[in-house]
Amino acid sequence: MSDAPEMKPCPFCGGCNLSSGGDAAIVGVWCRDCQAVGPNHYGRHEWNTRAALREIEELEAKLEESEARSEVLETLVMDVAADLYDGVPAHKIDQRIGDVMRQLDEEEEED
Ligand SMILES: [Zn+2]
Repeated sequence: MSDAPEMKPCPFCGGCNLSSGGDAAIVGVWCRDCQAVGPNHYGRHEWNTRAALREIEELEAKLEESEARSEVLETLVMDVAADLYDGVPAHKIDQRIGDVMRQLDEEEEED
């Protein structure tokens, strides 16, 4: 099968140590690193679909994370604008900005 698509890395361990076998109709794919197998019906394609679905899930999680982050920053901008309007001293505004940025950095480090 020279027109077989290239297989995506294992959706479970990210490994590329994959093997496949079978006949023209049913091809099984398995990961030699973590022993994940299949699905075995037209395996190459479904393996890739499964891997792609996992990639999409990861991207969605990242998107949610960055949306939460931008919400925090948006709130910060509004708060700082209100502080400036209210004549809050600059060092207090700096402190508020510093607190929020530190909090975001800590959340990022938890990953
Ligand atoms: Zn694997």
